[in-house]
Amino acid sequence: MNDMICPRCGVRMEFISEAESSGEKKTIRYFYRCPACGTKILDSQLTILRGQEKILIRIQT
Ligand SMILES: [Zn+2]
Repeated sequence: MNDMICPRCGVRMEFISEAESSGEKKTIRYFYRCPACGTKILDSQLTILRGQEKILIRIQT
């Protein structure tokens, strides 16, 4: 993972992840957040769908 600099204030951003689940779907988002101004930049998103027979994992970058 690379260092990301906030486009607004030029400080180094924090890399954080956030998970959210609703029903059979679980979404995990990885993003950079600026500790100074709160700007968020989405890095990648992982979606896990749990069906009856299979689990689908989708990675979006
Ligand atoms: Zn900032």
